[in-house]
Amino acid sequence: MYIFKTVQALKQYLKTKQSQQQQIGFVPTMGALHLGHLTLIRTALAQNDVIVCSIFVNPTQFGDQQDLDLYPRPIERDIEQLEQLGCHALFLPTVEEIYPEDLVSPTFDLAGLDQTMEGAHRPGHFAGVVQVVHRLLDIVAPNSLFMGQKDYQQFAIIKHMLKLMNSPIKLVRVPIVREPDGLAMSSRNIRLSEAGRKQAQLISQTLFQAQEEAKTLSLKAVKENAISFLTQHNLSIDYFEIIDGDQLRTIDTFDQATTVTACTTVNVDGVRLLDNIILKERT
Ligand code: AMP
Repeated sequence: MYIFKTVQALKQYLKTKQSQQQQIGFVPTMGALHLGHLTLIRTALAQNDVIVCSIFVNPTQFGDQQDLDLYPRPIERDIEQLEQLGCHALFLPTVEEIYPEDLVSPTFDLAGLDQTMEGAHRPGHFAGVVQVVHRLLDIVAPNSLFMGQKDYQQFAIIKHMLKLMNSPIKLVRVPIVREPDGLAMSSRNIRLSEAGRKQAQLISQTLFQAQEEAKTLSLKAVKENAISFLTQHNLSIDYFEIIDGDQLRTIDTFDQATTVTACTTVNVDGVRLLDNIILKERT
């Protein structure tokens, strides 16, 4: 696997691949890779000729300096895992490489998609996400971009951005990869205590329960039950919303949207754990 630390070196490599009409798949990450990330890479490998993975802990999407400082960075292990999988290129830029002084980042009208759920709890977060993904796409110019359903709102916002850009990039959503007990894999899970790790399992349990209940109960009742279950178990909920999966607006009935998703973020041991489940999707 080639490791590129500069934009220029990566672009040079990709230029050759592009001139050979090779299909480029791109997987942006912040590292501390787990099976969720690796599934993105595997999915990308199955659909493209050349896979570029980036590892960049983007400071502009962190409102909280401590969260940024505490973000795990096991780079040697990440490199080993990517090599084993057969990833072709790793982009490992510095902050200066991504944000040179003369960089002008475009702003996009996110149509309120960035105002709810994560956006309401992390002001400025999605502006940072959009900024870094736009910059990375500008550098890599992939044919396909692979992102996880785990960050449901992020996916919806990037989909919206690509639409506004009239981008030909194919955006692929990869399902959530979970631990055997159901907890959605996340780089932040290693910060959980043993007791916290046990409690965290209740998040996916709640979502699976919601999926079952949605077959017979109203969405209002499903939401109330989920919140009361989490609260009974002393979990601190940032939000639990049942939303239109495209517009990200809260809805009360299934017929208000073609895709219906339950999204939640719960705090355990001071770690924000995101999870979601699609209750209904257009076929
Ligand atoms: P991150 O390194 O957290 O920025 O994540 C990089 C990409 O991996 C994003 O597109 C995430 O949605 C995706 N991802 C993270 N965790 C998972 C998971 N458990 N299952 C599937 N995709 C994931």
